[in-house]
Amino acid sequence: MKFATQLIHGGQTHDPLTGALGVPIYQTSTFRQQSLDQFGKYDYARSDNPSREALEEAIAGLEQGSRGFAFASGMAAISSTLLIFSPGDHLVVCDDVYGGTYRVLSKIFSRLGIQSTFVDATSLDQIASAIRPETKGIYLETPSNPLLKVTDLRAVVELARPRTIITMVDNTFMTPYLQRPLELGCDIVLHSGTKFINGHSDVICGLAVVKSEELGERIRFIQNGFGAILGPQDSFLTLRGLKTLKVRMDQSQTSAGTIVEWLSKQPRVTKIHYPGLPQHPGHAVQCSQADGSGAVLSFELDSLDTTRRLLEQSQLSAFAVSLGGVESIISYPAKMSHAAVPPDERKRKGITDTLVRLSVGLEDPDDLIAEMDGIFNGKSV
Ligand SMILES: *Cc1c(COP(=O)(O)O)cnc(C)c1O
Repeated sequence: MKFATQLIHGGQTHDPLTGALGVPIYQTSTFRQQSLDQFGKYDYARSDNPSREALEEAIAGLEQGSRGFAFASGMAAISSTLLIFSPGDHLVVCDDVYGGTYRVLSKIFSRLGIQSTFVDATSLDQIASAIRPETKGIYLETPSNPLLKVTDLRAVVELARPRTIITMVDNTFMTPYLQRPLELGCDIVLHSGTKFINGHSDVICGLAVVKSEELGERIRFIQNGFGAILGPQDSFLTLRGLKTLKVRMDQSQTSAGTIVEWLSKQPRVTKIHYPGLPQHPGHAVQCSQADGSGAVLSFELDSLDTTRRLLEQSQLSAFAVSLGGVESIISYPAKMSHAAVPPDERKRKGITDTLVRLSVGLEDPDDLIAEMDGIFNGKSV
């Protein structure tokens, strides 16, 4: 089955009881049992809920994993997954990891005795030299946020496998439509389902998918024990959003390409980060491991004044945190996604004060360009 068909027919396609096209919202906390000797498939909705299960099966299938798990947020998925590690374990993490992940690792997991070393993951040498005897996990985002740096996932797997290090990839920017890390040999895929997977800026949701049954058992135990599960209403909405993932990504990605081309001719734009550009340092690796470059890009502007005008005057692109919705979102990493990263650290990483990130939605790109043109050149729009 091809991806578009799998989105519609890959999971549970209807409610077996009524034939309804779609799995209903099972808004219940508990399930009545028939027999003292044998409980039914469902007993308590933290453990299992049919609405959540439908989403979990769907994402597991799309990522080619053995099992999927839905959590209350991307951070809940990431934090719950990181609970597979124990005090004394060490992680190697890409240095422009999502700000919330940086925070949870550096402020919470460090306190629990799980240490992380942050490296420039575009360099295999840096990853390799950060590995210690107690390194148990490598945590990556590719393309990364907000600089769209690319990590060679196959090469990292070659480093990790012989040392039985678990490779985890936050695949939020790519989605399984464009990149399937488990097929490349990685062990765990994570998502902020809040972004492209749900796609409508109306749900907070997180997902984890594992390749092996063994990791599946461990995360299942944590999901039920720790309890940061996704509710049935949000499971339903996310599953509904997921069905249009391919058409949304196709359109947003095409528009992103058009916008990048236009930006590259603008004197006020001093640098563009988008792996689809042939001059992007990660372009070749991106082409070898993903089926596209997605709909998120970032760029640097000539001054703080232009930056402020673009962020404050944009009407079509919402000045907001988040990404991956039907509406374009323009954000300011230094004060938004990466506010949790100390200023010195941020500068060192290249997240400057004139860097903006654009997540391209489903508007006509001509309108988005016309608006930016007006702002850059002081025309009224
Ligand atoms: C938004 C985001 C997260 C966190 O997800 P929430 O759903 O906001 O908790 C993690 N990783 C990436 C790449 C994100 O963009």
